[in-house]
Amino acid sequence: MFENKENRTELTDLGEFGLIDHLAAAISLTNKESVKGIGDDAAIIDNGDNMTVVTTDMLVEGVHFDLTFHPLKHLGYKAITVNLSDIYAMNAEPKQVVVGLALSNRFSLEAIEELYAGMKMACDRYGVDLVGGDTTSSNLGLILSVTAIGKAPKDKIVYRNGAKETNLICVSGDLGGAYVGLQLLEREKKIFLENPKIQPDLSGADYILERQLKPEPRKDIVDKLRELNVVPTSMIDISDGLASELMHLCKQSGTGCVLYEDKFPIDPQTYDKAREFGLDATICALSGGEDYELLFTIKVEDYEKLRMNLDFSTIGHMTSASEGMYLQDKSENRVTLVAQGWRAF
Ligand code: ADP
Ligand code: MG
Repeated sequence: MFENKENRTELTDLGEFGLIDHLAAAISLTNKESVKGIGDDAAIIDNGDNMTVVTTDMLVEGVHFDLTFHPLKHLGYKAITVNLSDIYAMNAEPKQVVVGLALSNRFSLEAIEELYAGMKMACDRYGVDLVGGDTTSSNLGLILSVTAIGKAPKDKIVYRNGAKETNLICVSGDLGGAYVGLQLLEREKKIFLENPKIQPDLSGADYILERQLKPEPRKDIVDKLRELNVVPTSMIDISDGLASELMHLCKQSGTGCVLYEDKFPIDPQTYDKAREFGLDATICALSGGEDYELLFTIKVEDYEKLRMNLDFSTIGHMTSASEGMYLQDKSENRVTLVAQGWRAF
C-alpha cells in the first residue's frame, strides 16, 4: 500500500514496545494539564484538586481470547477488570468506563446481552459506571475496546519511574496461574476438536481457570495501602509477565534489580499443573502474563507497616543500574533477566 518497498520496516523487527517507543518519540505534550503521556499504565491529567487517570485496552477475538472456551459473560468481566487493573497500578480509583464494540453478524442479541451482563457485574463489583462507548461492525469477529477513567489525589499517584536503589520489590497475590490455566484450556480444546466425544477434563483446576478467564484487579491492595498511609515508590500491573514488568520499572527508574526465585509466590495448583505440562512454574511466573497482580517497590522503612496487613510477597530489591537486572535462582546462580514475554506481531 502507498509505500516505497525499499523503505519498509517490519513491525516484527520492532516488537510491541519498540513500536510504542518509536511512536512516542514523535509525540510531545502541549497542555500543562497533561502531566503524564505515553509510557505508564495510564495517562495522568491534572484537574486541580485531583488527577484524572485514563487508560485503554483492546481485546481482539483470536488474539486475546478464544470464544470456544471463553464464556461471553466472563469475557465482558475480564474486558473491564484488565482496564481497572491499570488504574489501580497508578494507585488511583477507577470511576467510569466507556466501551467500544465491533461485531460481526455471527453474534445474536442474546450473546451481546451475556457480554454486557459480565461487564455490568465487574462495574458493580468495583464501583464503576459504564458511561458510553461506540458500536460498529466487524468482518473478523469480536473486538472490544475499553477505556477506564479514574482519579487520585496528586500526592498519591504512583508512576513506574520512582523506584530507588535498596527499595524492596513486592508483588501481590501469586503468579503464573493465568498462563497455566490457558495451557489447560488450549489442550482441552485441541482434544475436543480431535474427538468431540471426549468431555474436557478441567477437574482440580478451578483456581487457574478463574485466573485466566475471570481475573480480579487488586483494588484491595490499593485500598489497604491508602489505609496504612504507605505510597509505593513505583508500581505497575502484571499483564505481560513479572520479568517484562520489572524491567519497565528498572528502566524507567534508572535502577537494576535482584529477584529471588525462592521467594516467588506460586499457588500449589499452578505448580502442579505446570509440571503436568512439563513447564517450569518459575518461567510461567516470569513470562506467562495476565496475572493482573500489582508489582511495586517500597522503602525498606515501610516494610514493617505492610508486613502484617497486606497480601503480598517481597521477592527482591532494587540495585544500581550498573549492577544489571538479575534473578538469583534456587541454586544461587545469578541469571540475567530477559523479557521473553509475548510478542504482539
Ligand atoms: P499496559 O500493559 O499497562 O496496558 P502498554 O504496554 O499497553 O501498557 O502501553 C504502554 C504505554 O504505551 C501506555 O502509556 C499506553 O498508553 C501507550 N500506548 C500503547 N499503544 C499506544 C498507541 N498506539 N499510541 C499511543 N500510545 C500507546
Ligand atoms: Mg499495565
